[in-house]
Amino acid sequence: MVKLINFKWQQLILSLGCLLLIIGCQSLYPATNPDAKPLKVATDPTFVPFEFQTADGKLEGFDIDLMNALASPAAGIPKVGGFAVQFESLPFDGMISTLQAKRVDAAISGITITAERLKTIAFSRPYFKAGLAIAVREDNQNIQDFNSLKGKKIAVQIGSTGADFAKTIPNAKISTFNSGPEFFQDLLNGNVDAVVSDAFATLYAIKNGKLKGIKVVADLLTQEYYGIAMPKDSPHLDAINKGLATLLSNGTYKQIYQKWFKVEPPQLPDS
Ligand code: GLN
Repeated sequence: MVKLINFKWQQLILSLGCLLLIIGCQSLYPATNPDAKPLKVATDPTFVPFEFQTADGKLEGFDIDLMNALASPAAGIPKVGGFAVQFESLPFDGMISTLQAKRVDAAISGITITAERLKTIAFSRPYFKAGLAIAVREDNQNIQDFNSLKGKKIAVQIGSTGADFAKTIPNAKISTFNSGPEFFQDLLNGNVDAVVSDAFATLYAIKNGKLKGIKVVADLLTQEYYGIAMPKDSPHLDAINKGLATLLSNGTYKQIYQKWFKVEPPQLPDS
């Protein structure tokens, strides 16, 4: 009997010890540690080769590689060993309002830095030199440039810089679509005469056989830069800019660029 009581006391002391140890560890590494929280990053994975989903649902692309490289310890943010990224798929058109409402920490989705967007959200330093292009059916001979778009039927993506550009074409009849695959289908079906959209995405899709029967006639109609978008007073802006500077100077950016575009990246402005 005495032996049994002794044993129970030992068990109680051991359990209390463990409990104290757990409480101690939790106060050393609180669950609310901001560095431990993953960065919620929105993307619209319908924009090859910047963000798209493989057959088995994996997110891939230039932007995805860049964001993951930023999160790796090599980019130097935060001070101790990288951070986790949690990608969230969102339609492109809802990206800006989602950032404004702070429902995500950032968005990477081939988003062009524009003066209009800068009124409501913040952007990192430019990470990609881009521009718009006109795409037509392969057999089209009469659309060659901006002037020949006058009065034509044009498809664009809702909320994109291509949509803003199309508004400046005199008498154009504009159809709006949610994503790239849809407006190219409409072009192929003959419902519209041309598509105005991001040059690199269109050229990549044509080159890789994903867009058949379509050609690009005016490459880089505009000069644009993509930036990582964040809410206006984001606490992550500085760290992301520093991380991008590191990736640009240590060769990681060049490596990612060559992986997707097979050419040397162009020079980027600092801001
Ligand atoms: N670069 C264009 C824009 O920002 C479109 C990007 C996209 O379709 N993902 O409006």
